[in-house]
Amino acid sequence: MDRVFNFSAGPSVLPEDVLKEAQSDLLNYKGSGMSVMEMSHRSAVYQSIIDEAEASLRQLMNIPDNYKVLFLQGGASTQFAMLPLNLMVGSKKADYVNTGAWTKKAIAEAKKFGEVNVVASSEDATFNYVPKLDPATFTKDADYFYIASNNTIYGTLMKELPDTGDVPIIADMSSNILSEEVDVSKYGVIFAGAQKNMGPAGVTVVIIREDLIGKADGACPTMLNYETHAKANSMFNTPPTYPIYVAGLVFKWLLSNGGIKEMERKNNVKANLLYDYLDNSDFFKGTVVKEDRSLMNIPFVSPNADLDAAFIKGAADKGMVNLKGHRSVGGMRASVYNAMPVEGVEALVAYMKEFEEANK
Ligand code: PMP
Repeated sequence: MDRVFNFSAGPSVLPEDVLKEAQSDLLNYKGSGMSVMEMSHRSAVYQSIIDEAEASLRQLMNIPDNYKVLFLQGGASTQFAMLPLNLMVGSKKADYVNTGAWTKKAIAEAKKFGEVNVVASSEDATFNYVPKLDPATFTKDADYFYIASNNTIYGTLMKELPDTGDVPIIADMSSNILSEEVDVSKYGVIFAGAQKNMGPAGVTVVIIREDLIGKADGACPTMLNYETHAKANSMFNTPPTYPIYVAGLVFKWLLSNGGIKEMERKNNVKANLLYDYLDNSDFFKGTVVKEDRSLMNIPFVSPNADLDAAFIKGAADKGMVNLKGHRSVGGMRASVYNAMPVEGVEALVAYMKEFEEANK
């Protein structure tokens, strides 16, 4: 079977060039006589792989020198606990914006460690919008302010950062990191699981301002303390060596394809193709309010669940897979991460037209 257009929300499509490079390196990485999977993480050759991955990410995102880049394990979900463990240590209060299932999980976890103030929520409308934020409701002495910049399940994107004064903003960027330019200096911590826009599942990237490291109290488990990993340059224990290597290849691929600016341009082209079609169709409908729509995850519905199922099956027969919406919302969802070529979205829209004609 040929490769399909994979619209999975994650793990998701990777650039074909990256997969080919990994394939050519598989048995013998650059004359080392072994696969990256077989290498000691303490070897010089592996050190250069992780160093290059970090350098490429720093270049891509323009990460200031006073930020550490950590390559951790445990998925983005482990950060839900690691953040309060490390940062809810002053007033023991934190503000959270509740924009979906992932922020709900983060909130539940943070409540174990301190006082959580949910400053705004869009749960009243199945999270199909990003709530307006009123700084008057923010906790003045909060240890941090938490957002998910992109909500993978519902397809919403927070387009403007709130003004939190000196309170550091923590952003879960799992599903939109590297999709558009961001000013890292506006954040205290950015974290993201790799398996959407960066590489295979198994590594979680944490970009953390240095003054936020070293605050956890003595009861914090060693492996959950940012200081442990920052001091050891992500080598306190065995890091997820192979996912870091592939993420490094993805970072290089991004650099040699115009960087984030060019990705942002292409992502707008792709998303607009789909949104324009949805806005003009009497049959398919996007489910998110216009101004909050994500560039990465695009949910939509047909007139009923039976047609949704028929559409998803028909698309799969044409080599367009993983279009089923998240089980909590139903319908369809097209995830169009950096590695999804514009041809994939064109093929999807062409099929939507065909399906609409046949079923309206
Ligand atoms: N945050 C967001 C926005 C996500 O989309 C996901 C996973 N889809 C997670 C957190 C959880 O990530 P992980 O499975 O790596 O724990």
